[in-house]
Amino acid sequence: MLKVDKINVYYGAIHALKGISLEVNEGDIVTLIGANGAGKSTTLRTISGLLRPKTGGISFEGQPISSLAAQKIVKLGISQVPEGRRIFANMTVFENLELGAYVRSDKKGIQEDLAKVFSRFPRLAERRSQIAGTLSGGEQQMLAMGRALMSRPRLLLLDEPSMGLAPLLVKEIFSIIKEINQTGTTILLVEQNAHMALSIAHKAYVLETGRITLSGPAQELAASEDIRKAYLGG
Ligand code: ATP
Repeated sequence: MLKVDKINVYYGAIHALKGISLEVNEGDIVTLIGANGAGKSTTLRTISGLLRPKTGGISFEGQPISSLAAQKIVKLGISQVPEGRRIFANMTVFENLELGAYVRSDKKGIQEDLAKVFSRFPRLAERRSQIAGTLSGGEQQMLAMGRALMSRPRLLLLDEPSMGLAPLLVKEIFSIIKEINQTGTTILLVEQNAHMALSIAHKAYVLETGRITLSGPAQELAASEDIRKAYLGG
């Protein structure tokens, strides 16, 4: 479904991604794990069109996308939940969700998806008129995910959804991610919480300073001695 082919991405003189290749098959949860600064967010931002690779290419369902505008990529069916949620803090929950559908014009479909988001996240339904900036961290993560789902993505990019959340909430968010996947959305998940990410993913890639150093079925990686030492606390 998604193919990233030897991309090189720079921030000025900083060579952030050094020939990264990865593949996401339809229906899977694929996770990208690695330490701080390895290039995980940069990879997602490049896929969603916020950064351009200097060389290499990205294709989605066979179509090259690495030179398309970000909005066009959303329209094709890829939506990103950014690190740190980035909700619109001064707007209500409802307005944030509405904005998630900004690339669509099918009113009926938007209403259906809104109802789906509210049934998946009952707390958002209860708080639909609340100013988003006053939500708790977990609720803001749910809102950011709900907003991304409002574009009806076929591929959802999630950047550190567990960041800053208490363990119980992390569990809840991960079970929601699994559910979203089981109802037909393919997921590329960036996480520092390798343990949780590997527990729900089908396939995993390990990123170290801009390079993929290891990849394979998530269960195999979870069992690997090197991964346990480096990312799972021994
Ligand atoms: P984190 O979990 O901290 O976000 P990450 O694995 O997502 O880590 P990136 O944020 O993708 O890593 O960063 C990859 C490299 O690019 C790092 O060396 C980082 O310092 C650098 N970098 C990231 N954003 C910028 C930027 N806007 N300008 C310059 N360098 C940047």
